Amino acid sequence: MNEQPKPEFWRGLTPIEKVFQPDAKPEVYISNAPTDDERYYVPFSDTVSSRPLWISPSQNKWADILMAKGAGLVNRHYHPHEVFAYTISGKWGYLEHDWVATAGDFVYETPGEGHTLVAYEHPEPMKVHFNVTGPLIWLDEKGETTGYFDVHTYIDLCRKHYDKVGIGAAYVDKLFR
Ligand code: FE
Repeated sequence: MNEQPKPEFWRGLTPIEKVFQPDAKPEVYISNAPTDDERYYVPFSDTVSSRPLWISPSQNKWADILMAKGAGLVNRHYHPHEVFAYTISGKWGYLEHDWVATAGDFVYETPGEGHTLVAYEHPEPMKVHFNVTGPLIWLDEKGETTGYFDVHTYIDLCRKHYDKVGIGAAYVDKLFR
């Protein structure tokens, strides 16, 4: 016998009429952000890839799900700006710090920090929600600069990948705010 669902207390409320200011952009809603559908992940290397969720070309910022399918070096970089991270699955950390992050763990990377990101052995892939202000400055093992990665590098990779897998390059533009 089915139980009648109780109506939520807010069912009688009405939404406000003025939602967006005239110059505001629409919100972004993405269901199942850390999807298992690998087409959405833009490869950085054989094991590391990123699903873009939100991209701001004008602010050089992006939000993504960074996935590492196996243990290993993810990358080594320096941040002129801040980064926030929330761990969804897997196990990861920086060689420069003693903590190791697993599901539910939050990390703030401070502007002016360089580090070596590694994924540990774990039954599940490393999936981390990153909120990045670019650029990332790539470093070699001595900490010397070897290149950079910013929102424009990211957009270019994303467009090429989505075109290749059939999602279409235009998908990326829908994430721009
Ligand atoms: Fe970092």
